[in-house]
Amino acid sequence: MNLTEYDISHPFKAVVVDSKRITPAETAEVRHITLNVFNATFNYIEGQSVGVLVPGPHEFGNEHHMRLYSIASSRQGENHNMSEISLCVRRCFYIDEVSGEKHPGIASNYLCDREPGDTILLTGPYGRQFLPPRDPDANLLMIGVGTGIAPFRAFLKHIYSERKDWKGKVRLFYGARNGMDKLYFNDRNNDLINYYDEETFQAIEAFSPRPHFDDPVDMGSAVKVHAAEVWEMILAHKTHVYVAGLSDLEKQLDEVMADVAGSPEAWADKKQDLIEDHRWSTLFYA
Ligand SMILES: Cc1cc2nc3c(=O)[nH]c(=O)nc-3n(C[C@H](O)[C@H](O)[C@H](O)COP(=O)(O)OP(=O)(O)OC[C@H]3O[C@@H](n4cnc5c(N)ncnc54)[C@H](O)[C@@H]3O)c2cc1C
Repeated sequence: MNLTEYDISHPFKAVVVDSKRITPAETAEVRHITLNVFNATFNYIEGQSVGVLVPGPHEFGNEHHMRLYSIASSRQGENHNMSEISLCVRRCFYIDEVSGEKHPGIASNYLCDREPGDTILLTGPYGRQFLPPRDPDANLLMIGVGTGIAPFRAFLKHIYSERKDWKGKVRLFYGARNGMDKLYFNDRNNDLINYYDEETFQAIEAFSPRPHFDDPVDMGSAVKVHAAEVWEMILAHKTHVYVAGLSDLEKQLDEVMADVAGSPEAWADKKQDLIEDHRWSTLFYA
């Protein structure tokens, strides 16, 4: 869906409660931002996003610059507080292809620069196609890179800390540029490590082979190492697959899954089955 198609006619205020950098200074800045949304009618479920409205003036006379951010909290709120939610935001920069100059992304820099007590305008929640299944016997195969971990943080909190009855197998393939970029799995923020003790849960890491050259995370190799289990899960009728992050991830996965399935056609057929069965969900940023 194009961003201009989102209904932003009912914005509401949120106050920044906390903003903490969860990556070290030597690597790209990613912040875990906690917001108080006050608004009692703000109900959401894991996997949904909010729109952040950056006040103008903006280029082309737009009143607001709106960008989407996945809610990283479960439906019961952040810190067991229903009026708080969190976002996981990477401070983005873009290189102008003509001048070679580095420009800050508008919404991500606006968000990363907010301080506790600042008010921002949100809209939403949006998105009804990236939600956890209700059946506690369902298997979850979650594949995410970078801030694509945000919805999975929400999923894991919901199924393990709130529902507590999950019996299905849960596998999280998580990709980061390097060991320092492991959001929610490092010494600055390790709240996902809490689930390592869960019998049904396993996290598998993937990294970029050459982080200094900005090579993409090699998710393909990580999936290949676990190919037998991944394929067994894909063949099971109760497995739901979730893929989140930058869109190049889907191409990488299609290539590796074609190998795992035996041919590109075999994978295309299986993927189509999953899509038709509403068991293949994607959330891509660009
Ligand atoms: C469903 C969904 C969920 C998302 N969840 C998250 C999340 O949880 N965390 C997260 O960090 N991000 C998330 N994103 C991405 C986020 O919405 C923004 O796209 C991202 O933060 C960049 O927005 P921005 O306003 O900072 O950059 P923008 O200012 O919008 O710039 C973005 C684009 O504009 C171009 N551009 C901008 N300025 C220049 C320039 N000066 N020169 C050349 N080109 C330029 C670039 O091509 C760039 O691709 C999500 C996206 C979607 C669709």
